[in-house]
Amino acid sequence: RGNNLQGYAPICLGLEDFYIRRLYLRIQDCFGRPICSPPDAWFDVVERLSNDNNKTLKRTTKVSRCLNLGSYNYLGFAASDEYCTPRVIESLKKYSASTCSARVDGGTTSIHMELEDCVANFVGKPAAIVTGMGYVTNSAILPVLIGKGGLIISDSLNHNSIVNGARGSGATIRVFQHNTPSHLEKVLREHIAEGQPRTHRPWKKIIVIVEGIYSMEGELCQLPEIVAICKKYKVYVYLDEAHSIGAVGKSGRGVCELLGVDTADVDIMMGTFTKSFGSCGGYIAGSKELIEYLKYSCPAHLYATSISPPAAQQIISAIKVILGEDGTSRGAQKLARIRENSNFFRSELQKMGFEVLGDNDSPVMPIMIYNPGKIPAFSRECLKRNVAVVIVGFPATPLLLARARICISAAHSREDLNIALEVISKVGDLTGIKYFPAEPQKQ
Ligand code: PMP
Repeated sequence: RGNNLQGYAPICLGLEDFYIRRLYLRIQDCFGRPICSPPDAWFDVVERLSNDNNKTLKRTTKVSRCLNLGSYNYLGFAASDEYCTPRVIESLKKYSASTCSARVDGGTTSIHMELEDCVANFVGKPAAIVTGMGYVTNSAILPVLIGKGGLIISDSLNHNSIVNGARGSGATIRVFQHNTPSHLEKVLREHIAEGQPRTHRPWKKIIVIVEGIYSMEGELCQLPEIVAICKKYKVYVYLDEAHSIGAVGKSGRGVCELLGVDTADVDIMMGTFTKSFGSCGGYIAGSKELIEYLKYSCPAHLYATSISPPAAQQIISAIKVILGEDGTSRGAQKLARIRENSNFFRSELQKMGFEVLGDNDSPVMPIMIYNPGKIPAFSRECLKRNVAVVIVGFPATPLLLARARICISAAHSREDLNIALEVISKVGDLTGIKYFPAEPQKQ
């Protein structure tokens, strides 16, 4: 997925080869024996280069320079930035790339403390804890929050890190229909009565888990309705904002800000730094008591090396830019740009006759392909024209709901987007995936 310098990036060819290989392995699995092996050409992403002094043959990945429509680099911070980069370099010189220690064993620097304060303040919660990886934030912290005797009610399309964390917790897991508050209420009613005090329930704890923007659907969470139901039934809300924090909301504060939800009504706010902030790691923000408890009992805090100081500095600096604390209006411009870019791109794709999932303002927009047999052609034809898109199919989606997933960035210029639209339109015609009549062009 690479960096997104001005919206362009080196992309490794072979995404479709990987996908097809996986599909083949699945087909083999289903029948319990190999049906046939994939042609060798599908593995030709690794290419032999000319020999070096006639002694060793170097192998390298074939790389092509493409317009990157697959990166989560929503605000364009994953490229050199005039405010962030010098500060990151300074912290690298001061603290080096790693603390080589867990947080409680000397791995806490002043940058870590500043980061936690900065994140808590940004997302609108009293306190926060950070970890070195977004995936681990869900998979390792959920089992600390809830265990045997607890009940997790999870959106059916929640990310794998949530699924893993929920399974690892030992709690009972129930799933509600994706982003459907009425079904969430139905599932809740099957397990507790409305108004039943927490102490009189057969469950030690109940947590409802949702995402701010669903990464395979591009949809915004029906958060106001979900929060109202959770309040009514007195259950906790856990919100994963991996794709929404920094990317949506007037000041980049995510779906609560965008949809007018009071952050006091969301008990556990989770997010990652790998998207809008151009860094790595994840956070949980909540009450002081909750964060204190996690700091003393979460294995990912006690036993894992702390987040790299330069990565932490990148997040602090990016948040300062977003909030205008760098003394410029670049942050506000980035936020306006991602919104304009996303809404422009989505409406142009729809006018062309594509079926595009998701909501306005969401930078994630899946184009429905449906037929899994068309995925490789779609991706390959886009790549041939130097546009890289992420293709998603089984098992990440149901077999016949294959799609190409576009991620829009504030780093894309209008010219970039026009080039991409022209290519996608051409490839859409070639592959026959424009399922709606195109709108007539204005004269
Ligand atoms: N939560 C969600 C909703 C995600 O989409 C992802 C990954 N894209 C993660 C958590 C894991 O984050 P990371 O890639 O930063 O480890």
